[in-house]
Amino acid sequence: MAVVIKSKAEIELMRESGRLLSLVLDEMEKSLHPGMSTKDIDVIGERKIRALGGIPNFLNYNGFPASICVSVNDEVVHGIPDRHRIIQEGDIVSLDCGLIWKGYHSDAARTFAVGKISPEAEQLVRVTRECFFEGLKYAKAGNHLYDISNAIADHADKYGYGIVEDLVGHGIGTHLHEDPEVPNFHMPKKGLKLRAGMTLAVEPMINMGRKDVEWLENDWTVATQDGSLSAHYENTILITEGEPEIFTLQGKERSHV
Ligand code: MG
Ligand code: MG
Repeated sequence: MAVVIKSKAEIELMRESGRLLSLVLDEMEKSLHPGMSTKDIDVIGERKIRALGGIPNFLNYNGFPASICVSVNDEVVHGIPDRHRIIQEGDIVSLDCGLIWKGYHSDAARTFAVGKISPEAEQLVRVTRECFFEGLKYAKAGNHLYDISNAIADHADKYGYGIVEDLVGHGIGTHLHEDPEVPNFHMPKKGLKLRAGMTLAVEPMINMGRKDVEWLENDWTVATQDGSLSAHYENTILITEGEPEIFTLQGKERSHV
């Protein structure tokens, strides 16, 4: 599939899709507390998506049985919400979600601390978010795709973290996953040239320990092989001639850029 350059009208729809998704993330963050189940989070997220007039794009995607991916502690991504899985004080919880607005997809993820977490966990969450913004510095027309990848990887390397290689970011638009793939690890080549109008989901997935991951028995949930904690941070962005625009970053989250 060729990389799609979005028109002005398409960009406007994606901007709105992203803005709505940021409200869903805010709602879930506000509700997150020890004692709730991972299914409770999914219910809150899906209700908000629908209340805003969106369609949950994860639900039934390749058979995924929920609207929100809820991945706890050593789970990297694609955690399946479960009413028996109870969030505990001290957990880190990665919430990955997306919606469709008038045919256009948005996709974003955050890792949240539940109550007080260890300083090591706090650093992992902070650095994973920083990795996104390090990559973003290179997300500009005329640069190359893997400039983003290498900047993310350089930052994670400073802390000796494991960068997940089995999953990557992606183009996004009328499909949840479009070309190109956006790796978070070092790439020997430059990759394609970035052009204004490209829309990408940039999403570092960073492990406190080794980079290796495994798929759990449900065939969906990806967890670290060594049991170490993992964090995830994702936004849907627009490449422009100047600063990239972050569609899924609004309100509270924008205030600590
Ligand atoms: Mg996502
Ligand atoms: Mg994504």
